[in-house]
Parts: sequence; C-alpha cells; structure tokens
Amino acid sequence: MRARLVPAVAALVVVAPVPEAAAQADSAAVAAARTITAPDLRLRIGALAHDSMRGRATPSPELDKAARHIARRFEEFGLRPADGDSYLQAYPLTASRAGTPSRQALAIEGPGGGAIATADYIAVPGGRGQASGPAVIVPGGGAEPPPGSVALVPVTPEGLRDALESIRGFLDGGAVAVLLAVDGPDDYFSAIRRFYERERLSVGVPEELGAPIALVRAGALPEALRTALSTGRGGNGYEATVRTQSEFREERAFNTIGWIEGSDPELRGEFVVFTAHMDHLGVGRPVDGDSIYNGADDDASGTAAIMELAEAFASLETPPRRSLVFMTVSGEERGLLGSAWYAENPLFPIGATVANLNIDMIGRNWQDTVVAIGRNESTLGRSLEETLGDHPELGLAMIDDPWPEENFYFRSDHYNFARKGVPVLFFFTGTHEDYHGPNDEADRILYDKTARITRLIFHLGRRIADADDPPEWDPAAYRRVVEGAGR
Ligand SMILES: [Zn+2]
Repeated sequence: MRARLVPAVAALVVVAPVPEAAAQADSAAVAAARTITAPDLRLRIGALAHDSMRGRATPSPELDKAARHIARRFEEFGLRPADGDSYLQAYPLTASRAGTPSRQALAIEGPGGGAIATADYIAVPGGRGQASGPAVIVPGGGAEPPPGSVALVPVTPEGLRDALESIRGFLDGGAVAVLLAVDGPDDYFSAIRRFYERERLSVGVPEELGAPIALVRAGALPEALRTALSTGRGGNGYEATVRTQSEFREERAFNTIGWIEGSDPELRGEFVVFTAHMDHLGVGRPVDGDSIYNGADDDASGTAAIMELAEAFASLETPPRRSLVFMTVSGEERGLLGSAWYAENPLFPIGATVANLNIDMIGRNWQDTVVAIGRNESTLGRSLEETLGDHPELGLAMIDDPWPEENFYFRSDHYNFARKGVPVLFFFTGTHEDYHGPNDEADRILYDKTARITRLIFHLGRRIADADDPPEWDPAAYRRVVEGAGR
C-alpha cells in the first residue's frame, strides 16, 4: 500500500503548456465529451435493466451476459483487455447457508438435559461432521479448551463477531466441536437465525472448519449450565453431541475491465480507475405482480456511464498522460465482492492507482446537483470544484452528503479502493422510493442529468490523468479511512 502523505511540495515546477496545443487538447476534449449523450445512456441502461436481464443477480447467467456485453463494447471502442487477452476477470465465490434442520442435531446429556429443539440452534456455515465430548465452558478468545471437549462459549450480541473469529483457535486447541451459547433479547436469536438461513456469498473458496459448529440459544440449555455460563463456575458433568452439515456451493463471477494506455511515458505507469457495479438484486418478492428488480438507477446508470466514458476517452486522438482503467464489477449488492476481489488481486498496481472515481446511482432525484462523497478526504474534491468551474454548461453543482447517518461511504465499491490507500470520489444522487424495489426501471431515469454527470466525470478524469501531480489524501482522513481499515 502506498502512502499518499507526501506533503504538498511547495513551488511546483509548472510547465506551462503551449497555448495552441492546450487549445487543441481542449477542443478535442469537448468533442469527446459530446459522444456522451442522453440517447446513448437510454439505450445502454435500457439494455442492462431490461426484464430479460432478470435483475442481474450475482451469480447468474444474466449477469455473465451483462459482463460479456460490456466487454464487447470495450473491444469495439478499442480499449485494451486487462486480464491477459480477456476483458473478464473471473473470481471464485462461495455460497453458504446454515444446513437444512433435518440434517443437524444437538443434544446435551446431564441433569435437565436432552435434545435441543431445532429452533434453538443454528449450524454455522463452515462446520460439518459429528462429535461428542464433555461440555467445557470456555470464557472466550485466547482460552484453551481441553482436547476432546466440546467448547461451550458464552456470547453476547456485541461479542458474536469476535466469538466467530475465535472458532478456528478453539479447534486448533483441541476442541472437537464448538457451541456458541448466545445470550440476548428474545428476538435476537431468531434474527441471526434468519441471517444464517439466507444464502450468503463470500469471495474465495470455501473454508471448511472440519468440525461441527453451532450457535445455541443460551436459554435453551439446562438451568445449571446456563448459570455456569453467566457466573463462570460449575456446570461440570455435561456431555454434548453435535452434528452439523452446512451447505456450500462454489460459484464464480466476473469483473469486466478494459484500459487505455496513457500518452506520457513518465506517467503511463499510473492509473485512474473508473468503477460502477453491473450487478443488482435479481428476481425477488413481487410488488404489484412485478418480481424483477431491474436496477436501472442501481447501478445500470453507473455502468452505462462507464461505457460512455470508455467510448469518449477512446475517441481522443491523444489519450491523457496517465493510463485509464474502466471497470464494471459484480457482487456489489452481496457485499462489495467483485471490488474486494480486485483490491486483493489487482490487474494494475494498487500503489500506482492514483484515483478511483466510483459511480453508483446517478439517474434520479434532483436535476442540477451531484453528491461527491469523499470530497473532503483528498485533493480530488478541489479538482472536482475546479472542473465544475470550468464547465458551467453542465449546469451542475456539488452538494455535501445530505445523509451522513446512512454511512454511504462504506456502501459502494470505492471503499475497497480507499482502504487500500487510493483517493476516491463516489458520485451518487441519492436513494428514492424505488430503491431496491422492482420499480427501479429504465423509464424513470433522468437521462439528460445522467449525461451531464457523466460528462463532468469525463472532464474530471481527464484533469486528474493530465495533472503533474497525483491526488493527495488529507492526512486526518488517511488515518481514519486507510489506517483505521486495518483494525
Ligand atoms: Zn444497491
């Protein structure tokens, strides 16, 4: 990871461009920006958000179709493929869920013991097999259960995450099974139950824990064990038998990535990355008979913008000085998965990636404003202001994030770049009543506004790629976002 805390070097040597060359570059840029049009966006969003694309769920054949469709456009525009000779970066996914109840069992033998009702325990994905042994209360991470024991770990809602992360350690210490005894409000256990019963996707190949693991409602355990869990005393003489069989499926999805090499031999090893997510929610609960979650604004709007940006930049006779990367990722709605994979497996060095401009939902709400989340974190905010100043014809103003409580900063793909030290800007025009509903349809998009925002991002991208110096983090923001992400 590259630190971007180089204090602004005073008195930069500014090489003034020859006026005539600058004027030529400007008129070329104006012509290129004109290739970004509302009718093009209407066509592109219409294709991605069409019912036949069935909401582009990750993973699905329709999402693969979208990935290939975008790859073909990149090829037509003349972009270079990013992954060898392919525009598609494939990555592995694991689909997991708590196993079907009939294949699980949990019994405690001892005073007041017996079989635990299926409603009172949940098989944790990753665990499988059957094991029996003395139930030994293990107070938490770092403690070592005796070899051959079933580790019984008291867990509060706040401590659940840490407890799940300690499972590996308990097994390495010799436990033959792990039971996390969850003590919380009545509806808490049913909430985590619902969470685990839904299929979850994660990046990478399945991690098998090789032993049965379950969450159990503390209230369902024999009274003496319950008391022992809360006091840390007693509770000896119980045997536990655990059988779990979690369900795994290996899947894969694509990111589509093309690039344009920069024109400056000194700077073409640095990259400006444009991103949007091409996936959405797929087919879901019907509303008024419509079950296809089209995701026109979320995020066919950003995906179409990426295609328009690629086309516009490719139309320039002389590309900008730095190289440009155009990326449409998948798995965003399932947890920023495609961008997470890219951040760990980049095709262009992350340390030489000077900016990420991410576009997610730019097609609805106000006609004349755009929110650029992250603008106070780096010099990118100032570059955006200057770009807006140079382009009054766009009729756009930048406003502050009106919804700080929503934490949108952590909710789209730029975050995976930011935590790796890349300065980011996230272009967004807000949620609406059709957000994550089947009515997020192409005919509700404001195409003229979407085109103007896309042109703004074109001019900004060009400014960043042509600047003598790369963007720099605000030091306090760097500590919070980048160094804080390591926790
Ligand atoms: Zn979304």
